[in-house]
Amino acid sequence: MNYGLYLHFPFCRKKCDYCDFFSIPLEPESSTVDLTGAYLKRLVSEIHERLPGFSDGSIDTIYFGGGTPSIMEPEDASAVIEAIKSTIDIHPGSEITLEINPEDVRREKLEGFSDAGINRMVLGVQSINDRHHKTIGRASRVCSPQVLEEFFGYGDISRCIDVIIGIPGQDERELSDELEILTGFRPDHISAYMLTVEDGTPLSVRLDTAGLDSFQREAFKTAISLLKKQGYSHYEISNFCLDGKFSRHNMKYWKHRPYIGIGPSSHSFYGGRRYRNDMPLEFYINSDKTELEVDERTSGQEMAEYIMMSIRLVGGISLNEMEDCLGDVMPGQCFERFVAMKERGLVEIINKDGACRIRLTEEGLFLADTVIYDTVEPLL
Ligand code: SF4
Repeated sequence: MNYGLYLHFPFCRKKCDYCDFFSIPLEPESSTVDLTGAYLKRLVSEIHERLPGFSDGSIDTIYFGGGTPSIMEPEDASAVIEAIKSTIDIHPGSEITLEINPEDVRREKLEGFSDAGINRMVLGVQSINDRHHKTIGRASRVCSPQVLEEFFGYGDISRCIDVIIGIPGQDERELSDELEILTGFRPDHISAYMLTVEDGTPLSVRLDTAGLDSFQREAFKTAISLLKKQGYSHYEISNFCLDGKFSRHNMKYWKHRPYIGIGPSSHSFYGGRRYRNDMPLEFYINSDKTELEVDERTSGQEMAEYIMMSIRLVGGISLNEMEDCLGDVMPGQCFERFVAMKERGLVEIINKDGACRIRLTEEGLFLADTVIYDTVEPLL
């Protein structure tokens, strides 16, 4: 059994206005070392506590996410990876990813992370335009040409970027120009996330969202068309890659494969059950036992989850694969909802060689949340 391993680093230097992730701004600077140091020590202790329980398998993807995990020093990442190695096998050729912010793109830091075993780095670019950064209230520095050159000029690792599209005021020309500049560096992987204005965030208070939907639909089309033209394959709603270099770690989420989450607010899925760590940060740091909540689900809810995740893939859901994985077929009521979506041009239902596959059309990809909610509703 191959597991994915997610390690949550919940700290950022400052909080972005659009962010509703579990992340804590590290200010004032003076408290930074103690809090992150204590957290990392506890993370290592959770690794020793939980990973020996997975001796039936090995780890083949590791993902340092956050927050801003690149605030860690390379020796911290190395200590975490060594702790993992001492408790469970790491499969040769594993994908080991770190999310990195522009502030941390420095040659010696990149080298340090690479020496620690990180072989895939995801740079949080979001936008290279200062005006768009300000619109969304991105706290991190704008990626300058020097930062991009430093990042892409460094070594033999897989380099990937995250961008935000559909930012009010970002016209089609600007979006195309930004994506052209960024694809010119040939990142292996691009996540192009649509700006989401989450309730309760500072952005939701100051941004007028009238007309945002139709504007974002155009931005989505522009991004898909430009990225495809530049040789990127569109494999998930927001994800594009070169030459099969999809995110092996994220594929585990979309394909219903097992993964282990370490740290507060992380989720795990193994043995057919889902777990989450709801421990408040301070309680977590000061405890010596990790408490996980089990997400009890009915078989209908499990199927709904399978559909919700795998329909995000541009290749869609194979009903045969779903049956093999869950031991159950899609109920007629749910299939009928997909047929209705097909009539609205939001999905395709492809029958070939006795196998059936359901996939979102381009319009359906944009309206994925609506399609997903409507189709899985009978299962909930
Ligand atoms: S850097 Fe990422 S996790 Fe941190 S506040 Fe900004 S969006 Fe949230």
